Amino acid sequence: MILILSPSVDTGSDEYAQLMEHLRNLPNVQARLHHERGVQQLLTEVYLIGDTAALDLGDMESLPCVERAVRVSEEYRILGRHKDDKRPTFFEYNGVHFGQDNLSVFAGLCAVDERPNVERMMQALQENGQVCTRMGAYKPRTSPYSFQGHGKACLPYVFELAGKYGIRVIAMEITHESHIHEIHEALHQTGDPTGVMLQIGTRNTQNFELLKHVGRQQDYPVLFKRGFGITLEESLNAAEYLASEGNRRVVFGLRGMKSNLGDPHRNFVDFAHVPVVKRLTRMPVCIDPSHSVGSRDQAPDGLLDIMHITAQGVIAGANMILVDFHPVPSRALVDGPQALLPEELPVFLEDVQIARRAYEQRAALARRAEITAHPG
Ligand code: PEP
Ligand code: MN
Repeated sequence: MILILSPSVDTGSDEYAQLMEHLRNLPNVQARLHHERGVQQLLTEVYLIGDTAALDLGDMESLPCVERAVRVSEEYRILGRHKDDKRPTFFEYNGVHFGQDNLSVFAGLCAVDERPNVERMMQALQENGQVCTRMGAYKPRTSPYSFQGHGKACLPYVFELAGKYGIRVIAMEITHESHIHEIHEALHQTGDPTGVMLQIGTRNTQNFELLKHVGRQQDYPVLFKRGFGITLEESLNAAEYLASEGNRRVVFGLRGMKSNLGDPHRNFVDFAHVPVVKRLTRMPVCIDPSHSVGSRDQAPDGLLDIMHITAQGVIAGANMILVDFHPVPSRALVDGPQALLPEELPVFLEDVQIARRAYEQRAALARRAEITAHPG
């Protein structure tokens, strides 16, 4: 059960002390506090874990400082959507809204290689009105002999250029907890010109110790990628690790599943799960068409497979797109074959807008028709 306390509750007040005393005396129930600084106020929630079945919602709502009580199912307690759950399905970070109700595009380099390529990419983003990008500095590679990313050495110029071109959020994968500190230091040294969304890659989906570290910090939101060889339920439980440690600003990323059944694509595209994740949880859902498809193959209608499956994810209600671009794909050190060109950004964005408009029309249709899950 979750108790949502009155906004900006005074934790030094008598009422608060009474509430805590009452909770301490509940048999076989532990209380875990979660504070979150929203745009206007401090939100405090108390998670009750243990024998909560016998607790009455009305009784709990009548306790001092409690505004609302929500009974949660066992799964995904914090990030999940529960019955009569009105908790938000969005968060704000560095002036950008991430929610189940909107769409952001993160086009950029799979891996940072040379400064001029970063600059050309950021320039193209600004020319096309984009404020988010992806830039890999720490690359988890299948082979130990492959390029592993420039690491912290490239961070200062990546952040400076982001500031110069008005980029507000960079999705950047980390593979070790020490990278959080390196990013923090580099941002600080460059005068905090931009923001970072920490990316957990598919190879680290169940790296629980890393998840705990990332969950314990609240400076940066998280793009959490689904594990490519485990069930959706296992991946959602892994995402919950972040929230259970304190960070609930999590976007859930679909990036295709490892299976030869998906051939000739690099991974079996799983964007049919966009609405499923939105139904089971309150997380915005990201799609990664580049790592799903893995090539610039083109359909007879002229559209690239990457554009086709981007549209499939967007028309199903995706909230974020992570997509690889590179000014000179043949010289990219990672994933060149799947990169789009900066000059293709306008057409990519227009195609995305077509699919997004179609999604909005479809959602409006469903509202008008009042479709229900179980008729009768
Ligand atoms: C990436 O986005 O660069 C990446 C490595 O993705 P994934 O973890 O999905 O393979
Ligand atoms: Mn890649």
